Amino acid sequence: MPDYRAPLTDMAFVNKELLGMDHYEQLDGCEPLTEDLWDAIVDGGAKFAENVLAPLNRNGDEQGCDFDNGQVSTPDGFAEAFRQYGEAGWQSLSIPTDEGGQGLPGSLSTLLTEMTAAANYAWSMYPGLAHAPITCIRAGGTEAQKATYLPKLYSLEWAGTMCLTESHCGSDVGLLRTKATPNGDGSYTITGTKIFISGGEQDITENIIHAVLARVEGAPEGTSGISLFLVPKVMVNDDGSLGERNAVHCGSIEHKMGIKGSATCVMNFDGATAFLLGEENRGLEVMFKIMNTARLGTALQGVCLGEAAFQGALAYARERLQMRALSGVQNPDGPADPIIAHPDVRRMLMTQKALIEGSRAFIYWLSRLNDLTQYGSEEQAAEADDLMSLLTPIAKAFCTETGVEVTNLGVQVFGGHGYIREHGMEQLLRDMRIATIYEGTTGIQSLDLLGRKVMGSGGKLLRNFTKRIHKFCEAQAGKSAMSEFIEPLAAVNAQWGEITMQVGEKAMRNADEIGAASVDYTLFGGYVALAYMWAQMAEIALQQDGDFYTAKLATARFYFQRILPRAEAHARAAVAGAGSVMDLEESLLHL
Ligand SMILES: Cc1cc2nc3c(=O)[nH]c(=O)nc-3n(C[C@H](O)[C@H](O)[C@H](O)COP(=O)(O)OP(=O)(O)OC[C@H]3O[C@@H](n4cnc5c(N)ncnc54)[C@H](O)[C@@H]3O)c2cc1C
Repeated sequence: MPDYRAPLTDMAFVNKELLGMDHYEQLDGCEPLTEDLWDAIVDGGAKFAENVLAPLNRNGDEQGCDFDNGQVSTPDGFAEAFRQYGEAGWQSLSIPTDEGGQGLPGSLSTLLTEMTAAANYAWSMYPGLAHAPITCIRAGGTEAQKATYLPKLYSLEWAGTMCLTESHCGSDVGLLRTKATPNGDGSYTITGTKIFISGGEQDITENIIHAVLARVEGAPEGTSGISLFLVPKVMVNDDGSLGERNAVHCGSIEHKMGIKGSATCVMNFDGATAFLLGEENRGLEVMFKIMNTARLGTALQGVCLGEAAFQGALAYARERLQMRALSGVQNPDGPADPIIAHPDVRRMLMTQKALIEGSRAFIYWLSRLNDLTQYGSEEQAAEADDLMSLLTPIAKAFCTETGVEVTNLGVQVFGGHGYIREHGMEQLLRDMRIATIYEGTTGIQSLDLLGRKVMGSGGKLLRNFTKRIHKFCEAQAGKSAMSEFIEPLAAVNAQWGEITMQVGEKAMRNADEIGAASVDYTLFGGYVALAYMWAQMAEIALQQDGDFYTAKLATARFYFQRILPRAEAHARAAVAGAGSVMDLEESLLHL
């Protein structure tokens, strides 16, 4: 496993120079975040990630989780690291102070998540999922529920889960069958089986608070009949002490491709006692509160594991000696040159760097917008909300798909040594693979983007963003050094509107057009969004001296010359129509 070092220089660049610390001065209602405090928290998070979590990563993959008669054991060291994380107060960093947290903005937590998850993704699933009941209770819980559960979830004495998926019901949550029956005393009895539940059972905490979607008897079919419940693994007495074991048990755990240290559980609710959150049949409204942050968190997985893979690949490419450089001997004292001298290896490293740093800037910006939805003025919050509605599905789909590409390139740079276990590169690819699937697959994100957000808003949400890019391009007009970035950015920005019109026109005649265009359309949007971030980073780099800025500028050039052209292929595919996708009779697909 490559040694993980938190990319503090780039994190600071994006936060302090690209997005600016003045963002934090305009937030109303959260604790002031000075640069010193920012440095101290990020530094502390980096040390925890590097020194505590990274050393557990390899064994976590090899040992994995174990299931024995309803009990699940997690890899060595996971429980102790979890305890330390809770004691350090990381979990409640972005919870408002009047609710018992530290009141700092959520965008700061994004940085911590990046570092902890890059160091050990499987471990990071446990605190990550513990946020699910926190968010559900804060959004839909009574004062009594808040007082009972939140302090223990903040301190991580208790963990949590999000239970949506059933064997017949994944993307289509409206199909769920788990049943809730009112007990007449305000509580409910839940019966049903959920599958693929991350952290459904573990040996880390004494209690687990499950946030469960279920259908109250007699509720309407589909998504309008879904309610949200809290189901504690161990019942909580009125005085806060733990009572009887509730009737929810782990039936088995999955054997899977990656994130092996994260227990993926079948959970049986055999008449478990449950408590309603919010109102009956309105569970999805509460759940939607989690969606943006959960999707951004999953988008970040591409940056985390991509960064770890890049660090490994770069170190290896500097050491591994194979053949001579095309342009002449680089290492005359050795039998061959380091592979970093070969243009194709450079192409792979530059692709990794451009996609990771572009995605980092994109996701950090979105988490700043998320701050504004919470702590900005009414006008700022509305504007941020509109931008996030459009850009969150793009970030989730694009940054996870490119995360798979970047971790795959990590294996490729190592050659056969990447394919074997020894260097840990194949683990990063395996750990990455799930990210395009959970929290809404790439296909589902793309339908959400094109169908609901773009077409559903009559193009308004898209125009908000393309106008913003247009204004940026106009402001750069006349700066000759920026033209290599601005001309292609302005071109793809205008093209975005054109392909939207073309797909929209086709969709009026054939509803399949949206589904057939959607993934290419979304990836096109991702390349444009990253171009916007890279152009802004280039603007800063052009005004500064020093190695870091030289590297930024060169990477911006690489992005525009070698990555952005992919957008054209996606644009052409998106407008090519549903015919070639759907015309072939299904029975003829394989003869
Ligand atoms: C390791 C792991 C951890 C997980 N953790 C959790 C968890 O903690 N809690 C939880 O509730 N769930 C969890 N899940 C479940 C995960 O969220 C689902 O697997 C995911 O939502 C997809 O559902 P599915 O697997 O049933 O696939 P399906 O919904 O059956 O989809 C199969 C394929 O069909 C496509 N598809 C489906 N419908 C459409 C459509 N209308 N248009 C276009 N394409 C479509 C999908 O994109 C996909 O490619 C986890 C899964 C895994 C593997």
